[in-house]
Order: sequence, then C-alpha cells, then structure tokens
Amino acid sequence: MARFNEHFSELKESYLFSEVAKRVSAFQEKHPDRSVIRLGIGDVTLPLSQTVVQAMHSAADEMGRAESFRGYGPEQGYDFLREAVAGHYRTFGVYLDIDEIFVSDGAKSDTGNITDLFSADNTVLIPDPVYPVYVDTNTMNGRRIVFTDGTAENNFLPMPDRSVHADIIYICSPNNPTGACYNREQLRKWVDYALENDAVILFDSAYECFISNSSLPHSIYEIEGAKECAVEFCSLSKTAGFTGTRCGYTVVPKDIKTVSSDGREMSLNKMWNRRQCTKFNGVPYIVQRAAAAVFSEEGMKEARDMIAHYMVNAGIIAETMKELGIRFTGGIDSPYIWFECPGGMNSWEFFDFMLEKAGVVGTPGAGFGRNGDNWFRLTAFNSKENTEEAMRRFRELF
Ligand code: PLP
Repeated sequence: MARFNEHFSELKESYLFSEVAKRVSAFQEKHPDRSVIRLGIGDVTLPLSQTVVQAMHSAADEMGRAESFRGYGPEQGYDFLREAVAGHYRTFGVYLDIDEIFVSDGAKSDTGNITDLFSADNTVLIPDPVYPVYVDTNTMNGRRIVFTDGTAENNFLPMPDRSVHADIIYICSPNNPTGACYNREQLRKWVDYALENDAVILFDSAYECFISNSSLPHSIYEIEGAKECAVEFCSLSKTAGFTGTRCGYTVVPKDIKTVSSDGREMSLNKMWNRRQCTKFNGVPYIVQRAAAAVFSEEGMKEARDMIAHYMVNAGIIAETMKELGIRFTGGIDSPYIWFECPGGMNSWEFFDFMLEKAGVVGTPGAGFGRNGDNWFRLTAFNSKENTEEAMRRFRELF
C-alpha cells in the first residue's frame, strides 16, 4: 500500500475561515433580521478594470482565429508580460533581466512551490503572526521551523537575532495580517543577516501596491545585496483584482547561489526554471494579456484608483481605532488593520462579542500564529458605506 507523507499529520487543522463561516451562519439563523457586515474578507470586491477586460476580450478573439491561436506557451511566461513586469520594477529603481522573472498563477502557489528547491534539513525562520502558507508548506516537507515574534513591542516587525541561525527566511511586507511594513534600514538588516548566514530570503510583496509612503521599499531589491540572497513573490491579486483571474510573478535572481551537502554550487534561478518546466505549464495567454494591460499607463491608473478606494476604507477603520485609543498597526500602507482586542479578550472571544453586539465580522488573530491570540484583523475590502456603518456600530460598543 502506498504510504502517505507523514508530515501531513503534523499540520494543524486549518479551521480559521470555516469556523468563522460556521459562527456567522449560526448567528444569522438565530437573528435573521440583523444585518451582518463582513470586514474579515481578504478578497477584493471591485471588478476588473476596463483596460484589463478589453485586453482579455481581444486576447480571447485572438485565440478564436487560426492565424493568432496559441497552444502551450513558455512555462516562464510570455516575454511581453515579463518585460512589462521588468518595467514595473524599473519604477522602483530595480533592474532585472527578463529571465529572472517567472510568471505564475499567483503568489500562494509559488511561495509554497519554492520549497521544492531546498533540502529538508534546512532551518526555516518564519515570522509569527503571518500568512499561514509558509508554515504549512514547510511542515509538509518536514523542515525545522523557528519563529521570530512580531509583537506590539516591535510594532509587529521582528528583526534578525544573530544568535539564531536560519537557512531560509520568510518576510512578508506589507504584512498579512498586521499591515506592518519594513523600512529600508530594517530590510537592510535582514539582507545583511541573510548574507552572513548564507541564507535565502523568500520575500512576499503581494501587498506592495498599497504602499503610499514614498520612503518605504516596494521590493527587497531596492536594498543592496538582495539580489544575492532574495527571491521575491508578487501578485496581481490585490494590485488589480486578480484573485479569481490568477496571475503573479516570482523573481529569482541569477546571482543567488546555493550549495549541495558535498559543496557543489547550484544556481537557484536554473533550479527554479527546471522545476517550473517540469511541473508547470504556464498561465493562460488570455490572462497574461490581461496582466500585461495592468502595467500599461491606463491599466496602472485604474489599479491605483481601485487601491485608493480600498484605502479610504482602511483610513475610516484606522481613524476609529485612533479615536477609541485602541492599539493597532496597518491601515496606511496596507489594506489590513490589526488591533488589540479591547478588554483583554482573546481573539475568538472578541470575534463572538463583535458579531453578537455589532453584527460585524472580522478575523481572529489566533489564526495567524500564537502572537495573534489577543489581536484581530479587519480589512478594507468592503464598500465605503458598509465600512462606515461597521465603524459606527463599533464605536457604540466602547
Ligand atoms: N501572500 C500573501 C501575504 C497573501 O496574503 C496572499 C493572499 O491573501 C497571497 C500571498 C496569495 O496571493 P495569490 O492570490 O497571488 O495567490
């Protein structure tokens, strides 16, 4: 009989969103007349922009004509999109070769798939709290995980501890769920630490488009030395509403070297290329045309308008927290607002309290790591009217 990968039994039950859904539907059944506002969603709500939709339509037409039909595309993505991504990076002063950019079906797959390249005996450093995919994918591979604590004391931006050795380091900035964003100086310390430890940083920049403070880095490659030690994952999910359309990109610089146990050097870029050519057959042509349209002048303008819409909501939530004197992070360079549960409640108690008293749904911080036990996440992905109404009800509670 085939034996299963026993590391799967070490995974914690992923009950966060199913438990949230269960409690909300129980509440609605009991109180059918109460309106419930969902500020827990990590999904966009605005439709794709016009420029993107037009690009999809014309790509679909191309696919329907014999002379412009396309079958399998390059596993790494079409050059027109890789060039558009390289152009986007140039706006941050980052210069990449086209063959360092790999088009993906989103950051979730690639942040997990990249673990294929590393031996199981590496030590992985993961911030807590954070997006749960990093922990789960490394657990599946049986890697040793050490956590670096994000707490109110360090503004949820943990810094390297030189007494701890790590081979692989995950950084998510702006962070999900805390909304906290590293500045250049802080990222430089992480890059220095990675170089000293011969470690690789896996940098998740899925929320870079929400950064409004011009002094904050959008890419880790804005930091000198990062091209020798960092892989970067980004996505159009939040930049342009592609959560259901699926397109992202991963940068694997050619300067990153890794070694085998007997000291042979390997290029991470070549390994990733080999991995993708073996296990991935590319993103649909129509989607890649839509993605390239995001990087056009008009497409970027529309994407910025969508982000501005969400950030108005983030501002409404952040202002409410300030008024009420509740400790929080995020809401400025991120669509997430992460706040301390009032009255010493833990995050599930607070979830029930908010649902019962205000009919507002958020996400309990405990779902993102043990440092989230007394914290709570609200998101900016609802309408302005609903966000205002939710905050009006919220104020009445305190
Ligand atoms: N990385 C982070 C930090 C996220 O929060 C998310 C989605 O919520 C993803 C990656 C996944 O993005 P994608 O839709 O590109 O797979």
